[in-house]
This record gives sequence, structure tokens and C-alpha cells, in this order.
Amino acid sequence: MKEKEVILIVDDVASNIQTLAAILKDEYQIKVAISGERALEIMNQESKLDLVILDVEMPQMNGYEVLEKLQEMKLAQNIPVIFVTGNLNPEDEEKGLLLGAVDYITKPVRPAIVKARIKTHIILKRQRDELIYIASHDKLTGLYNRHYLAELGSQTFASARRHSDSMSVIMCDVDYFKAINDNHGHLNGDKVLQAVGSLLKSNTRTEDFSARFGGEEFVVVVWRCNAQEAKNKAEKIRKELSELEIDSIKVTASFGVVQLSHKHENFEDLLKEADEALYRAKENGRNRVEVF
Ligand code: GH3
Ligand code: MG
Ligand code: MG
Ligand code: MG
Repeated sequence: MKEKEVILIVDDVASNIQTLAAILKDEYQIKVAISGERALEIMNQESKLDLVILDVEMPQMNGYEVLEKLQEMKLAQNIPVIFVTGNLNPEDEEKGLLLGAVDYITKPVRPAIVKARIKTHIILKRQRDELIYIASHDKLTGLYNRHYLAELGSQTFASARRHSDSMSVIMCDVDYFKAINDNHGHLNGDKVLQAVGSLLKSNTRTEDFSARFGGEEFVVVVWRCNAQEAKNKAEKIRKELSELEIDSIKVTASFGVVQLSHKHENFEDLLKEADEALYRAKENGRNRVEVF
């Protein structure tokens, strides 16, 4: 069964929380906070949160202040926030909507209306999440796609520069893949690519990421790794792949490795040099790793 969406209810009055929770608990997983400060804490920790229902009038930090803080912390970007308030005047409504709230609900709440509105925003959120996923992932392998690689790679590049961290790029290309397609059919070729994708995924630490760069080409970005460490990693992947049997198909790949240095101006430069090293790995006999 599909996991229930998670809704955070924020209100300083416990009975208000109970009312909303009773309306929503059958369809959603409910989390609660009795102050703005607590809500911010939860939003900082919680990786899965789909909607926030935020009371406007609260002591210490009111709902508007909470939403402002969320915007500053870039936490509310993909999480819809709905205000609940007892006395709604047009100025307050305007203020909340300009701050980025998606809707207003007035107290006392009417269960059917609350349910309907929340459902709409949950569906919109789900669809937006799906679009974001599709736009950033490769369908066949589930790895990041080339478009997202460029974005995440540039961010990683900038961050490594800022903190003087090391960073390396591994580019990988399946050997004689055209022959695999020709001999075993395109569908089996796809299975091989999926297996390569899984292998890369299982060899990727949480701080690193891998992507499908093109047809049978893949990229792994390793953070805080110098060329030697990245080479060892590529060597490990190369060996594991060569030992794999995918529906009795044997496959190997060649690898090019490059480490970030002062001469690189952007992430593209790293890709270019990783590709050159990869080209050398092909020339030198395939099923091997070369460092730029
Ligand atoms: P090399 O060792 O020099 O890399 O040789 P190769 O045959 O792997 O390289 P080449 O570039 O000649 O062929 C790559 C092939 O990958 C050609 C293309 O049809 C195939 N290909 C690209 N995308 C896909 C895909 O999504 N699925 C399948 N099955 N094949 C694909
Ligand atoms: Mg209140
Ligand atoms: Mg290729
Ligand atoms: Mg190839």
C-alpha cells in the first residue's frame, strides 16, 4: 500500500489540533507542534513532509513569522503551507498569500471543506514531486539524468571550491555495447544498462551521486576524494562489473578519472577531462581505468 502523506498541524491550542487531526487522521499521517519554534524544529528534521497547517495567532512566534523563517531556511519551497485563523481580514489574507501560503482556512473549521481543500493541495504537491522526479531522473536506470547531473555537478563544484575540498569525477562507458545489442537484442541491452546503474548506485556513498550521462555512459561524482581514491573506487566498480553475469551476458566497462584542480573553471571542464581519460582507457585495451 502507498505510504500516507504526512501533514504537520501547528497550533498553540491543543483542542484545535485535536479537531483538525480527527478530520484528517484517516487519510494522512499526522504530526503536531504546539508552537512555531517546535514547528521549525520538526521541519528541519523531517525529510518527508507534504503539507503544513499553520495557526496564525500564536504567542512568541506567530504563523507569519514561522512562514518567513521557513522561506529564509529554504524549507517551505516544495511544501505547501495553509494558514488557519479565527479572524480573517483581507489585509491578513493578502499578507499570508504574499508570503507564499497556498490557502487560508477559517475557524471554526468545517470538516468537509478542510478535507477537500487539503486534498487538492496534497494532489498538487504529489504531482509536482512526480514532475520534479521525472525531470531529474533517467527512466531506465533510476539514476539522475544528464540535465540534473549538470546542475548538481555545478553545485558540488562550487561548494568544493568554496571549502577547498577535493572532488573527483569518474566517467564510465560500457565496452562493445553495440555488439551486446546486436547479439542479445535491445531489451537485454537495456537490462545490462539497468544492472550497471544498480552497481553504480550500490557503490555511491550518500554524499556522492551517480548519473546516466548518455546511452551507455555514466558519471559518478565523488566528493572529498582525490584522484587516487577515485581511481580505487572506479577500479572496484570495474572489477565488480566484470564479475557480473546479467542473464548470462558478460560485460565490462572502461573508466576515466579526473580530480578537481585550480585550473578547472567549471564542472564541464571536469567532464571533458574525464572523457579524455576514458578515451585513453578505450585505446589502451578497454576494461580498465585511466586517470587524466
Ligand atoms: P566502445 O567499447 O568503443 O564504447 O563500443 P560501443 O559499442 O559500446 O560504443 P558505440 O558508441 O559504438 O555504441 C553504443 C551503443 O549503445 C549504440 C546504441 O544503440 C546503444 N544504446 C544507446 N542507448 C541505449 C539504450 O537506452 N538501450 C540500449 N539497449 N542500447 C542503447
Ligand atoms: Mg492560536
Ligand atoms: Mg559511448
Ligand atoms: Mg561503449
